Amino acid sequence: MTGSSEGARGADRRFVVQKHDASTLHYDVRLEVGGVLVSWAVPKGPSTDPRQKRLAIRVDDHEVDALTFEDVVPEGAYGAGAVLVWDTGCYRDLRAEKDGTGMEEALDEGLLEVWLEGEKLRGGWALKRTDDERWLLIKMDDEAADARRNPTSTEPLSVLTGRSLDEVREEEGRESEDA
Ligand code: MN
Repeated sequence: MTGSSEGARGADRRFVVQKHDASTLHYDVRLEVGGVLVSWAVPKGPSTDPRQKRLAIRVDDHEVDALTFEDVVPEGAYGAGAVLVWDTGCYRDLRAEKDGTGMEEALDEGLLEVWLEGEKLRGGWALKRTDDERWLLIKMDDEAADARRNPTSTEPLSVLTGRSLDEVREEEGRESEDA
């Protein structure tokens, strides 16, 4: 397999989990696949407890610019409300490593297995489609699984700026009023 080591390792692709205070608070999980961010809205956010299957609604792909988006989406726009970068880093495609199934194929099949290297989220995670746009986000049972950690409540701040949603709303909201 000379020359394919980078491909086999998945050439680390990026992911982001944003905390988004829209009409209802949720988390947006986005994985870089083929030049876009394949995205799910997760109402309760990720759990590090493998027994907690979290509903994840597949939503429209986003541009890769969204990886660092931390701002207030203005009133009247889709998704209006404050957004912070709750976690980000790189991921590896575990199915590609196991049997060569690529991300596009895995999306069609409705089963992704990725290894996240974030600041808050690490280890193996599965995304399983149950029907149509409804998927489940599940922590795989590995050394990074932890039923007691509950990072959505104990680690609420932005990994980019250390801000809370209130601080993003105050600081970015003020800027847009001035503009
Ligand atoms: Mn959202």
